[in-house]
Amino acid sequence: MKIQQVLHFFEGIARRMVFLFRRPVYVTLMGGPGAGKGTVAQSLAPQLGLAHLSTGALMRREVAQNTPLGQKIDKIMKAGKLVPDEIVFELLKAELERPSNWRGAILDGFPRTLAQAQWLSALFPSWGVRLTAAIQLDVPEADILERLSGRRVCSNTACGNTYHVKFNPPKKDGVCDKCQSKLIQRTDDKPEVVLARLEEYRAVQAPILDHFKAFPHVLVILSTTNSTKPEYVVATCKSQIEARARL
Ligand code: AMP
Repeated sequence: MKIQQVLHFFEGIARRMVFLFRRPVYVTLMGGPGAGKGTVAQSLAPQLGLAHLSTGALMRREVAQNTPLGQKIDKIMKAGKLVPDEIVFELLKAELERPSNWRGAILDGFPRTLAQAQWLSALFPSWGVRLTAAIQLDVPEADILERLSGRRVCSNTACGNTYHVKFNPPKKDGVCDKCQSKLIQRTDDKPEVVLARLEEYRAVQAPILDHFKAFPHVLVILSTTNSTKPEYVVATCKSQIEARARL
């Protein structure tokens, strides 16, 4: 056995011990592109003391590093397609296993396939814990198109703050409030890519929801529109998570 495998083994035991004394909170935030997953996770993760793990951000980090894997992911993202499950599992598992994330995490944009939902439902019990809540943000497609066409993100990948030209404008046009970097439009927010992403989303989401319907104490479906206040969405998600964490 290699030294890394030995360390990994002992880290697994340490994690189980920690979990015996402090149950972690794991939440998945699901919904179509632009459903508000990132906004809710950005706001709730610090409030609940959880890590914010966005699989989209993990992919963009890999792309920014320009590794062979990053180049492969880049092509898939630009086509509005989903990254293969095995790649997502590897990157996400490494993040979940980090001791700094042992208090729990909000998974933003995961699961996006039935296989990912099944993987998650198997992973947590193998660690002696459970998924606290699976939250589905439902938004009409016309509202999603309006949201995404105006979405701007910070070009500094370490910051990644998101804005909307109409609903959440930065203080200074085109500049990030947090780190003063330039704001850009994501290539996958261009209308033709958004339509491909919506089509892909429609095809995969129904079986994922069916999977979580088998765990009624976990699933939360929250319907919103562009008139729903983001504070209401965040507060509702928070109370639903807290209620389920106490179960
Ligand atoms: P997001 O930032 O969540 O909108 O994700 C941006 C892009 O990253 C998606 O369109 C996919 O190409 C990829 N991606 C993010 N999360 C996943 C996932 N769970 N499974 C597969 N691909 C993903």
